[in-house]
Amino acid sequence: MSQSLTGAGKVAGVVGAPVRHSLSPLIHNAWIAGAGLDAAYVPFSPPATGFKALVEGFRGGAVCGLNVTLPFKEEALALADAPSAAAQAAGAANLLLFREDGRILADNTDGTGLLAAFAQQAPGFDPAAAPVVILGAGGAARGAAAAFLAAGVGEVRILNRTLARAEAIAVSLGDRVSPLALHQAEQAFTGAGAVINATSAGLSGDGGLDVPLAATPADCVVMDMVYKPLRTPFLAQAETEGRRTVDGLAMLIGQAVPSFTAFFGVSPPSGVDVRALALKTLGLSERI
Ligand code: NAP
Repeated sequence: MSQSLTGAGKVAGVVGAPVRHSLSPLIHNAWIAGAGLDAAYVPFSPPATGFKALVEGFRGGAVCGLNVTLPFKEEALALADAPSAAAQAAGAANLLLFREDGRILADNTDGTGLLAAFAQQAPGFDPAAAPVVILGAGGAARGAAAAFLAAGVGEVRILNRTLARAEAIAVSLGDRVSPLALHQAEQAFTGAGAVINATSAGLSGDGGLDVPLAATPADCVVMDMVYKPLRTPFLAQAETEGRRTVDGLAMLIGQAVPSFTAFFGVSPPSGVDVRALALKTLGLSERI
């Protein structure tokens, strides 16, 4: 939060349930302070049935915008008057902007964040060079598939525990998407340029996915969207196999950048190391 918040200050926030452990307030408020903005970024956690009332209450611009996290991303898209192409392709919105004329714009910056994370932590990675494998078929997987298709990938292989959900993504995103079952991982990993865990397996230290990352090519990049813990069992296995890795915190910060710009009309200040702040909050060393 800005140290000099006035009545004219801009307010944005994040809405989710739960939202208590979200790192977004830490990231955005550090950028607000670094840029010296008259602004604040606050967490909102409505009851499961209260999301619509909260969003409708902000219509007209009392709050300039919201990031949206689980479980409200699909509902956020449905409530918007003007969804972006990225939000429509993802079937979910992680960003709502409240215009003074009463309209609500929806966007999805998760795909931008994902590609930014690859650019930062796997320099030289070319999303169009080889098939990309996505594990999972929830909103995050759908958004990742849409982002890679927009970046020119020739084939996205979506593997899910529940095959029907992978098939549904293929139906909506087109014939460059191949749906497969999780037990077909070895086949799917052959020739892959990247493998991304977009399941919630591995979250909060559970066992994670049991997939044969050794079957990926030596130059395959392995990414996990989960960032608690940051070094998930999945990324640990990838490192053991000698693969380059990309972590979920880089994606979280990557999706926050365009959100901040959309809220406050300026880019995040370059001198604020929000990754170091987030690592400290997670109780981790800055060298990770
Ligand atoms: P979601 O809609 O709930 O989807 C969860 C997916 O995980 C489904 O495909 C589900 O398979 C699969 N899954 C859950 N437990 C599994 C297990 N034990 N074994 C195999 N598959 C399992 O969630 P989402 O919104 O897509 O998010 C997925 C993950 O990405 C979450 O951990 C979320 O926190 C993370 N995420 C991170 C960022 C970031 O910025 N780093 C951004 C967005 C999301 P079924 O269909 O078979 O149930």
